[in-house]
Amino acid sequence: MFSAVTSEGKTVYLMKERYAATEASELRKTKFFCPVCREQLDVKLGSLKAPHFAHKQNKACTIEFEPESAYHLEGKKQLYSWLKAKGCSPVLEPYVKSIQQRPDIIANVQGGMLAFEFQCANLAPDLLYKRTQGLKQAGAEPLWIIGGNRLKRTSRHFFQLSAFHWQFMKENPRQFLLFYCPEARSFYKLHHITPFYANYACASLEAIPLTKANVKDMWFSASAPSFQPAAWQSAITRFRHKPPRFLSKEANHLRLLFYEKRQTPLPFLPPEVFAPIPLGAVFLSPVFIWQGHLYLYMTDLAEKRMSIRFSAVFRFCKMQIQKKRIHLRYEYSEQLLREALKQYINFLCGKEFLIEGEKEVYMVKYPVHDCRTLEGVMERDQTCFGE
Ligand SMILES: [Zn+2]
Repeated sequence: MFSAVTSEGKTVYLMKERYAATEASELRKTKFFCPVCREQLDVKLGSLKAPHFAHKQNKACTIEFEPESAYHLEGKKQLYSWLKAKGCSPVLEPYVKSIQQRPDIIANVQGGMLAFEFQCANLAPDLLYKRTQGLKQAGAEPLWIIGGNRLKRTSRHFFQLSAFHWQFMKENPRQFLLFYCPEARSFYKLHHITPFYANYACASLEAIPLTKANVKDMWFSASAPSFQPAAWQSAITRFRHKPPRFLSKEANHLRLLFYEKRQTPLPFLPPEVFAPIPLGAVFLSPVFIWQGHLYLYMTDLAEKRMSIRFSAVFRFCKMQIQKKRIHLRYEYSEQLLREALKQYINFLCGKEFLIEGEKEVYMVKYPVHDCRTLEGVMERDQTCFGE
């Protein structure tokens, strides 16, 4: 941390990049205390990390659990200077007694109070929830910024996202993820996060250098990159050429169902079970699993020349969730689940796989295609996802 209090109760910040010898020895002679637990602190003026205060070894603070990394200290400092330059009157590491929390920075943004939390280390989901609620209760809007060192890109439009990342999406799955890297001095925003597998998602990355960043960019991007259907299609192609070698219980169950009902092996699954849905992160199950169950349900009805009611699709999906054939990422509201399914149905209507007759009543438009060759099914991918 950069702030501490003296025995006279004065708050001192260590904000310089480096301290001259006389200043340093003066600082080392002074006693500094943690504003939260009141324990005496060490003054750290080494060269590996920015000058900062730290609790003595083996002294646990009531709200701090681990030493801050150089990366975290540096990022916090840069964000603070940036907010100051933008005229947001930031306060570094304020201790908000009513909630016993100390956010990294609190700033005044367009008349509202905003709490910036720069999270580089792992954080238990219940702690994230508790801190988010606490800050709201104290009247501050929390903005979680993830350490740029936690951004794992596997290809241009694909990212490895773990439970650590998904927890930040939990409050609002429509959200983007925001990262900051103090080494690159840049924000990174992930838009259109659409999972293919549980922890592997297609997304569009936007880099906003700190020198060009406005505070409002954190919520609104004038030039947010669009979703990349070609990247998504390439993931489907990879799946067809090389389906996952180890199948989970739920994937194997779906594989058997497709084989029994449609004589379709896994690499030939229809493109309709790979729809990139904006709210796809609601599901923990891979895209082809949750959509695969719904696809079989709808095409079974179509074979019997029966129409498909949205309410029935919704009921069917909830039943599959109960039977643990489809897994949700979190306990989501019914409304959000309904919205995700609606997006899927609308996608199928857009691709003229379904046609809507009466409101929320659908028919499958053509006799269902069952492609028997990889070429055939990839041609259908191209019709479905190609530009
Ligand atoms: Zn303390």
